[in-house]
Amino acid sequence: MTDDTTRRDVMKAAAATGALAAAAPAFAQGAMPPVDPQTKYTSTPFPEQKQKWPALQREMKPVPDCGEASYRGSGRLTGRKALVTGGDSGIGRAAVIAFAREGADVAINYFPTEEPDAQDVARLLRGEGRKVVLIPGDLTDAAFCRDLIARANRELGGLDILVNNAAYQQSKESIAEITDEQFDRTMKTNLYAMFRLTKAALPLMKPGAAIINTASVNSVNPGEELLDYATTKAGIAIFTKALAKQVAKQGIRVNAVAPGPIWTPLQVAGGQLPGKMAEFGQDTPLGRAGQPAELAGLYVSLADPGNSFTSGSIFGANGGTASKLAPSRIFKQILNAPQPLG
Ligand code: NAD
Ligand code: MG
Repeated sequence: MTDDTTRRDVMKAAAATGALAAAAPAFAQGAMPPVDPQTKYTSTPFPEQKQKWPALQREMKPVPDCGEASYRGSGRLTGRKALVTGGDSGIGRAAVIAFAREGADVAINYFPTEEPDAQDVARLLRGEGRKVVLIPGDLTDAAFCRDLIARANRELGGLDILVNNAAYQQSKESIAEITDEQFDRTMKTNLYAMFRLTKAALPLMKPGAAIINTASVNSVNPGEELLDYATTKAGIAIFTKALAKQVAKQGIRVNAVAPGPIWTPLQVAGGQLPGKMAEFGQDTPLGRAGQPAELAGLYVSLADPGNSFTSGSIFGANGGTASKLAPSRIFKQILNAPQPLG
């Protein structure tokens, strides 16, 4: 499908569903002009806010930008079948929007209480003529993980791209405040689910398939208030590199994106310590937090078959945070990243 065809189809579908007002700026633009990354998005401190876990993106102030009105595809993933966990909101939603506009059919997993966010993204993309399959369920449940892969594969008619993106993050000042329940849930969501989903998906994947994990700046530079979460993010980085070696002989690539700090529901559902919202992202060299839309291109690139020699790597998106840190030997060993992360 050509770019023009995609754009025409999208405009037609958007007009039919009344979504044209939201979609029009995205598809009217030509090549993206140079933009100052310091001022591309707000650097105004975020208002203090707290939602019950897992938080809804549509109730955040301001609502994060996942590329709804800006991401423009060019057929890079035409006909591919992708499953994105945590695809209802935040970084996962940005990947879902980008994948769909690049021509992929997408299945989205999310926690059942996030149905309103999932419906928002499904409505948007279905209005553009894309196939979106919604599969709610709890990833801490081993049987559900296996079922999720089977359903995504069945309903999409195959599985080429798996994005392990869902995560649980609760900030606690001291190890003394981390309960066994929190530690267990963080491990089960961030590590066990990635392991179970990947194990179930691999036998269904063909040469050319791609697995993309979401690591973090915490993979190498842990926040002291994120002891359990950072432990899982370091694990995700190593899992990515080891699995890439293992499945190379099946023709499957495995990479990770390492973001932070990005304005998403995770942060308002206990991800930050109380009273810290106004500081969020202020100390990056770019002087602001990132928005999920700014990561979409990395997920697309790692799924794109054109990047066929890229595997076992971790790509940062952190507003320059890494440049503030002295590179250490362990950092270089852990991360074979063209763009170092923090
Ligand atoms: P988010 O809240 O939008 O996404 C997290 C998603 O995880 C939720 O939407 C939810 O659907 C899913 N999830 C959590 N527990 C689940 C469960 N038991 N069952 C099913 N789904 C469950 O926030 P986000 O920041 O976009 O997070 C996406 C990824 O980005 C995570 O892996 C997170 O660790 C990573 N990350 C985020 C930042 C940041 O600053 N926001 C920084 C580094 C890494
Ligand atoms: Mg969500």
